[in-house]
Amino acid sequence: MVSAILLAGGSGSRMHSEKAKQYIEVGGVPLIVHALRTFQESPVDAIVLVVRPGDEEYVRREIVRPYGSAKVRAIVPGGKERFDSVWQGILAAEALRPGGAEEDDVLLIHDGARPFVSAEMIRASIEAARQHGACTVAVPVKDTIKVVDEAGFGIDTPDRSTLYQVQTPQTFRRTLIKEAHKRFRAEPRQGITDDTMLVEEYLGQRCFIVPGDYRNLKVTTPEDIILAEALL
Ligand code: C5P
Repeated sequence: MVSAILLAGGSGSRMHSEKAKQYIEVGGVPLIVHALRTFQESPVDAIVLVVRPGDEEYVRREIVRPYGSAKVRAIVPGGKERFDSVWQGILAAEALRPGGAEEDDVLLIHDGARPFVSAEMIRASIEAARQHGACTVAVPVKDTIKVVDEAGFGIDTPDRSTLYQVQTPQTFRRTLIKEAHKRFRAEPRQGITDDTMLVEEYLGQRCFIVPGDYRNLKVTTPEDIILAEALL
């Protein structure tokens, strides 16, 4: 079974808008609908939508029903941090499988604020997760990157040809990502910024890199809406 967690549980405070960013219209439909449609048309069996606590009914009425997302099998409230929302999604995805954990179940985790996820990214991610256990979509960095010290000086310039900018979906064997989150919750470490880092740090599991796309941007600030509209 292949499930996808679509995250829409953030406050989107950097958007500075009255409407939560996941519901702002882009290309004539709420932002979250773009990714939802792509997952709906993908080989994914079930979608778990993680929303802000209290938004469940709104999302069912205004998003899931009108846009016909038959694969949405659960709408669950998220948590304070992104990790908390992912955890709620993992539990909901697990509950969808009556037989409990299956070793070859795959789970994709995607930021609902990335409307340009493609069918090919999803297909390649499922295949890579089956083969390697963990993967993320990423693109090579275009700019030179510097490590900067506290005094404001660049102290290192890593070899650019080895640097990738990480996007979502991030895809895992479901039992593997659950175990990483369980250990993180029992013994949280600082500086963990995404799910791939969790499996690397807590399980020593390497993550394969699946080709992403520079268009697969995360809509975060008002300028990103303009960009997203232009790309559409
Ligand atoms: O805040 P940021 O843009 O990094 O969020 C990335 C994704 O994670 C967004 O789709 C957002 O809705 C989601 N999120 C969440 N729960 C949180 C924080 C963020 O589902 N507590």
